[in-house]
Amino acid sequence: MAKKFFVGVDVGGTKIAAGLVTPAGEIIGWEKASTPRAASAGEVMKVIVRAVRDVIADAGLKAHRLRGIGIGVPGLVDAKTGKVLVAPNIALAGHPIAEELARRFDAPVAIGNDVNLGVLGESWRGAGRGVDDLVGIFPGTGVGGGVISGGRLLQGAHGAAAELGHLVLDPSGPKCGCGARGCLEAYASRTAMERDIRAGVKAGEKTDIVALNGGNLGQIKSKVLARALRHRDPLVTRVMRAAAERLGDGCVSIRHCFDPELILLGGGVIEACGDFMLPIVRRRLAADTLFRKVGACPVSRSRLGDDAVVLGAVALARGL
Ligand SMILES: [Zn+2]
Repeated sequence: MAKKFFVGVDVGGTKIAAGLVTPAGEIIGWEKASTPRAASAGEVMKVIVRAVRDVIADAGLKAHRLRGIGIGVPGLVDAKTGKVLVAPNIALAGHPIAEELARRFDAPVAIGNDVNLGVLGESWRGAGRGVDDLVGIFPGTGVGGGVISGGRLLQGAHGAAAELGHLVLDPSGPKCGCGARGCLEAYASRTAMERDIRAGVKAGEKTDIVALNGGNLGQIKSKVLARALRHRDPLVTRVMRAAAERLGDGCVSIRHCFDPELILLGGGVIEACGDFMLPIVRRRLAADTLFRKVGACPVSRSRLGDDAVVLGAVALARGL
């Protein structure tokens, strides 16, 4: 029987998802598991292998019907060796994930950065369909990015390209998780918004955010930010406007680098607060003097949500 199916795997800091996908990009099976906390690479690998095995078995298929496996991981990946170089939130650095999966399932394995693959997924089956030059930016805990140029995923010499969140907007700006200062991520991630909201509360700015967030200022979820915006909370509105303006500034520079036909914004903050943020980003892009004559660059929301990385991983595996 012909080898017909692909498995796409999305390895996240909290969840590991595996999807069984047809060559046309239809997801016909799902398997989800929690990422083991404070676990070794071997333990994380066990969960990944089990998810792949179960998603194949649940569909009543045999592993030899697999045409390929694609896997997206949250970190810098060496696409040539299939090794994870840096993975801040999961213990996979240095582990030959691709080799191990290929051996266990006797199928070719493609590996990439999760956000890169999310953008590839959007270009294959989502909001970037048919767009050959596409940039995706995803503000969340950090700010991830991906670039499709001339119809191909930009991976760079080591598979580490498109770390758009670490574009430096101001070298004397706030500290970023990467160790540098003033990166886009240090302004436009949800983490940065939380930092600025906490500072505003401490400084006595007018706000109801503590009550809206259940009486505390721990993690502030995207939907709580959205509710505060709807209530026209002065502090949250000020912080979110500043974050969106910085995101817009980042988009201007990113546009200068890649001249995309379309910029996609996605992730939890955009899903919840995009109605407020996107017009601000668009205004920043429209005010760009250098590219005024080049034409407009539309900004849209991503469409695939949790399916994006799985589909992008399969898109990469199809090319093997
Ligand atoms: Zn950074």
